[in-house]
Amino acid sequence: MRILIAGAAGFIGSHFCDRLLAEGYAVVGMDNFITGSADNLAHLSADPRFEFIQHDVTRPIPDIGPVEGVLNLASPASPVDYLEHPIETLEVGSRGTQNLLEVALKNDARYLLTSTSECYGDPLVHPQVETYWGNVNPIGPRSCYDESKRFAEAITMAYHRKHGVKTNIARIFNTYGPRMQLDDGRVVPAFIDQALRGEPFTVYGTGAQTRSFCYVSDLVDGLFRLMLSDERYPVNVGNPIEMTILEFAEHIKKVSGSSAPIEFRPLPEDDPKRRRPDITKAKQVLGWEPRVTLEEGLAETFQYFRSKVGVAA
Ligand code: NAD
Ligand code: UDP
Repeated sequence: MRILIAGAAGFIGSHFCDRLLAEGYAVVGMDNFITGSADNLAHLSADPRFEFIQHDVTRPIPDIGPVEGVLNLASPASPVDYLEHPIETLEVGSRGTQNLLEVALKNDARYLLTSTSECYGDPLVHPQVETYWGNVNPIGPRSCYDESKRFAEAITMAYHRKHGVKTNIARIFNTYGPRMQLDDGRVVPAFIDQALRGEPFTVYGTGAQTRSFCYVSDLVDGLFRLMLSDERYPVNVGNPIEMTILEFAEHIKKVSGSSAPIEFRPLPEDDPKRRRPDITKAKQVLGWEPRVTLEEGLAETFQYFRSKVGVAA
């Protein structure tokens, strides 16, 4: 089985490549490095079952030979990244998604879209179930990402309904782990970087907003199971253990032994107040639920970031 994975040089994409290779697949990675890094794939350079093509998926996709699966992870994902690249984010969710659906259609391949909990916007239903249509500001700063992903979901369903493409849609909730970019602005690398440097922890707003953090190996396991399933409607993939951002900052401060203070900064516009996946469907349809505890996941992540910031382990 040969699989095309777009967004392969990103945080989740590179872990998904590792998982597919471990499962015996041949993998074609594609990425334009807008937010990813070649470092994330360096360990695969000698693997004969791994090929890499540097390419922007919003441009026509070159003939890559037959593939049995197309996995679409290509998109800036951190708020700092998509606010810096709003047009590229809209283009990759729309034209990029369609180009990849065309590859799946031509090859009669299965297709998986990595969508997001941002489709629920600032949710009025809690925890979020897949049947909730969301509360999204279509013109706010985050709309470039939210509406890009909502379009991506819509065109994925259209290719399934019109052309019978075997599609899957994962709605991913906040995921963390090694290979995140230290400076991508997401809360996990931000707090870990601050802990390692002994700098103040920057909590936005009062820190009362909540998130639920999933370790990357659990997430990839959920995506892998979804890729093999016949479920055509969206499935939440995330960890349902929810905490406030202030609690999370206090937790990182405690486990790191940092004595730096917590400082409060302005809350970004439209920052969702609560986020927690209802994973009943993933449990039932995929037999999946997260296994890695926050303590275990953070220990792995700290170890990775220590090597990156040059702090002794
Ligand atoms: P990431 O930024 O690390 O990875 C995304 C990758 O896509 C990068 O390597 C980037 O260079 C590549 N890319 C972007 N536009 C491209 C284009 N036009 N052509 C080719 N490559 C392109 O982000 P991530 O956290 O690994 O996210 C992967 C996917 O999962 C994204 O689609 C994201 O929306 C989704 N997701 C992630 C999270 C999370 O918490 N990490 C949550 C929800 C959804
Ligand atoms: N956040 C924070 N301090 C930071 C970075 C983020 O308090 O240095 C908050 C942010 O406002 C949000 C949460 O942490 O409420 C998660 O932010 P992230 O950018 O990781 O992802 P989001 O869930 O907003 O997409």
